[in-house]
Amino acid sequence: MSSVLYKNVVKNFGALNVLRSLDLAVPDHKFLALLGPSGCGKTTALRILAGLDMPTSGKVFIGERDVTRLQPRDRDIAMVFQSYALYPQMTVAENIGYPLWIRGTPEAKRKTKIGEVAAILEIGHLLDRRPRQLSGGQRQRVALARAIVRDPAAFLMDEPLSNLDARLRLTMRGEIKRLCQRLSATTIYVTHDQVEALTMADFVAVMHGGELQQMAPPIDIYDRPANRFVATFVGNPP
Ligand code: ADP
Repeated sequence: MSSVLYKNVVKNFGALNVLRSLDLAVPDHKFLALLGPSGCGKTTALRILAGLDMPTSGKVFIGERDVTRLQPRDRDIAMVFQSYALYPQMTVAENIGYPLWIRGTPEAKRKTKIGEVAAILEIGHLLDRRPRQLSGGQRQRVALARAIVRDPAAFLMDEPLSNLDARLRLTMRGEIKRLCQRLSATTIYVTHDQVEALTMADFVAVMHGGELQQMAPPIDIYDRPANRFVATFVGNPP
């Protein structure tokens, strides 16, 4: 049961003001697409929630918990990147089970969970392979399985499909959407792709120049854009 909240989050890198004062609330169990052009601050916002960057000021909450000062591993989040970041020397099963292994989960329980998530992502037949023996789509499924194996409170994805070809991207959009509907996690999905955001998400948050322009369900973003930037960016200019 975890909403995600950004409260007055400011991020500067030296003289560069990347997030101006981000206020954003994602309701429990919902899928939010964080949409905007390259360089607008999407990844920085995600990394601050994950604990990979600290905000210059402001706070982030997951559920009731202020996680601003917590280490990444204490935040109950899982993150999937475009690069997959699988461990090449480990088998698929070991990759998926790794987040459980580092937390000391006993082997029997680990095996059960690995089997469950592998079944959901239809990679049960690949458990003994190594990442180099997999296709791009299969690697992405392994990365997703590894992310959800712990039942995270928040599930964060940063352009997870950008390394896949157009056809596979289309298939994986549907798979990720279904996967998130099954999970009880609140999802934030960073993308610069308008179609991806509008077709996958419950809510779309449009960013520009480090500022949130509008957050609304996809249909409202498209039909009732808050300003000229949003209208033009989602392809429905005035
Ligand atoms: P987006 O994900 O929307 O493409 P980012 O959050 O990656 O945007 O980056 C926003 C801005 O912050 C960019 O101008 C980028 O160059 C800058 N930036 C990101 N990370 C760092 C960093 N570690 N040091 C300095 N500048 C950074």
